[in-house]
Amino acid sequence: MSWPNWLPLRENLRPLSPYGAPQVPAQASLNTNENPYSPSPALQKAITDAVATVSSDLNRYPDRDATVLRTKLAEYINELSGTKISTDNVWAANGSNEIIQSIFLAFAQGPVLGFTPSYSMHPLIAKVTGAQWIDGKRNADFSLDTSAAIVEIEKHKPVLTFITTPNNPTGGAVTIDEIALLADACKVVGGLLVVDEAYAEFSQEKSAVTLIADNPHVIVIRTMSKAFAFAGARVGYLVSDAAVKDAMMIVRLPYHLSALTQAAAQVAIDHRAELLGGVARIIAARESVVQALHDMGLTTVTSSANFVLFTGFKEEAPQLWAELLEKGVLIRDVGLSGYLRVTIGNEAENTLFISALKELI
Ligand SMILES: *Cc1c(COP(=O)(O)O)cnc(C)c1O
Repeated sequence: MSWPNWLPLRENLRPLSPYGAPQVPAQASLNTNENPYSPSPALQKAITDAVATVSSDLNRYPDRDATVLRTKLAEYINELSGTKISTDNVWAANGSNEIIQSIFLAFAQGPVLGFTPSYSMHPLIAKVTGAQWIDGKRNADFSLDTSAAIVEIEKHKPVLTFITTPNNPTGGAVTIDEIALLADACKVVGGLLVVDEAYAEFSQEKSAVTLIADNPHVIVIRTMSKAFAFAGARVGYLVSDAAVKDAMMIVRLPYHLSALTQAAAQVAIDHRAELLGGVARIIAARESVVQALHDMGLTTVTSSANFVLFTGFKEEAPQLWAELLEKGVLIRDVGLSGYLRVTIGNEAENTLFISALKELI
């Protein structure tokens, strides 16, 4: 990106381009790991009713602490993971990206370590906030080598260490025992371990929220955008020690989470049985898509999430991506040479993806 000379853009931002997957219309949108199932008419009505109720108070600022929402999120986490976290262990924001940015604003005075390829917003937000990002490496099959990661932590003494599990864009998950070892290493160097669990509900692994009571330097980031089928509302949250959550109060913007968002999210959590009902279906569909890709002679990376990274095609990834789009199928070129990532959609979308790909390879 070339910026005009008159624009006094901060020097560290000059080399950067805006992040974002192309938002282009397609018959099958399988590029941003959204949940393919829209809210039921009953849930739509419940959300509309809740929004109607708060709209009479829109002249007033919202609850800046989003207490009701945070209490519901704490209940949800305790229900899933058998923890005893409370409202004071949860902070909610406009998507987990706001959570990530706030963590950088509060803590990133010193090196920050992550293991790539992983979620590209971690290093991008590091650059934007002027933090020093260190690229740790993964194994050739994209799994995380815990021992090597611990060596990196001991060497760089990062103030923040990011791991993403299940990892995006590769799909693999890290066991709770491995996360505990990484947490120990971070503790020794006086840093925080940030575990991005955007896809946790799709994985069989135990969540790192179970470590927090004994490890206050562990922060877990979650989102309602993926399994929860609520990406449009923009709600992410962190689960942490109360001191971490209190630090977020320093860097947050005033009244950052709108009354409309809070009201809609509260209803969505109350309807979690319905919203999360699609998870098992998506996992089953993922296994069918993986099988179909293998039947075509392609190779997949083992996924514990709602997407699959695949390789083994002859064309360059950007070219195959463009040809699929011409056939109405939008997937994601994540910038890994020879690989493309497909989000698991509904049955019609997955069928269209597989049939379009068959014609192309
Ligand atoms: C999708 C994603 C997020 C973010 O989502 P929000 O919609 O901002 O909550 C965060 N981390 C990872 C790894 C993701 O894939």
